[in-house]
Amino acid sequence: MLELLFLLLPVAAAYGWFMGRNSVKHTELKDRASVTRNLSSGLNFLLTDPGRQGHRAVAGIAGYRSRHTIETYLALANLFRRKGDWDKAIRIHEKLHQLKLAKPQAQQIQYELAKDYFSAGLYDRAESLATPLVNTTRWREPALKQLFSIFTASHDWHKALSLETEVSNSQSRSLKIALANMAVEAMQEQPDIRRLQQLVDNNPLAIRPRFTQAKFYLAQEQRDQAKAPLLSIIKQKPQWSAEVLPLLQQCDFDGEQWYQLLSQLANKQHNVTASSLLADWLAEHGSPKAAEQFLLDKLQQQPSIRLFQKLLQVRQHQSTAAAEALSSVEELVQAYLANKVLYSCRNCGFKTRQQYWLCPSCQQWETVEPITGIDGR
Ligand SMILES: [Zn+2]
Repeated sequence: MLELLFLLLPVAAAYGWFMGRNSVKHTELKDRASVTRNLSSGLNFLLTDPGRQGHRAVAGIAGYRSRHTIETYLALANLFRRKGDWDKAIRIHEKLHQLKLAKPQAQQIQYELAKDYFSAGLYDRAESLATPLVNTTRWREPALKQLFSIFTASHDWHKALSLETEVSNSQSRSLKIALANMAVEAMQEQPDIRRLQQLVDNNPLAIRPRFTQAKFYLAQEQRDQAKAPLLSIIKQKPQWSAEVLPLLQQCDFDGEQWYQLLSQLANKQHNVTASSLLADWLAEHGSPKAAEQFLLDKLQQQPSIRLFQKLLQVRQHQSTAAAEALSSVEELVQAYLANKVLYSCRNCGFKTRQQYWLCPSCQQWETVEPITGIDGR
């Protein structure tokens, strides 16, 4: 009988293991419940009592030295900011900012608080928090972007230009383009052609300095000088042809050069403005029939309302009867195009008939570009 008791030993061991596991689980659950209780009471105090009790609640939770707890608070505060509830986001971030935390966490909180202040329109406070972060490795680029948003909103172009070295050392395309645009904004009152040339040389990513330079030369009737910057824009961004070709038309091109440029843009880039201007050139230097055939071929390859309108115009010029017959159709096409958007932001999709260097919706520089496609130019 006694020997049989040995058989119960494995059962006793399994029972012990099971009970032990349950007890660990129970402690874990108790801990989690306590953190959740502390989190919600801390948050409650923070949002209802911005005073000492709120601070004590957050300080108590930070006392757990739990990275996850702070991250939960940060996530909550960011959620409030996204919902436009800046007051609550600021309250949480301000309290977290007062705590003595490890450097990486403290810097993240400082950055988030700067974002809150910017969203709430408190630019001075946002600037003073973001500026020291430019000297850190992790937060340099986000802090520069934040500062540029502040300077763009406040039109403080010269402050942005003081960060030229930091921007040129960064890898960010958007920062470099933004800096070049702000430099052009800074000289809007008094264009300085030497400074413009410097901007063109130092900012190959941005097109606005070249655009401004070309417009300056055209205004001074130095047409030859305007050619190079305009041609370089088209080479880099053919979709800008709709804006650039009318300016290039004012420069002195010989017929063959102009034909080559338009052919290349029309045939390789399928640019509608170039095709339309090429039809004009063919009608003038060849024959209206050649222009018509070119447009018919083009329309078979790429549907385009503007090229269809050009075809109607070419046919109208051929005879009085055709002009009378097609005038009402041409008017309808014109009315259709009069309501179409001309530009679209590649960053946020904002659509407009007006050209903007700074997108009014997402506040990014040089993202609003001429649209392409069936109604595009
Ligand atoms: Zn946009």
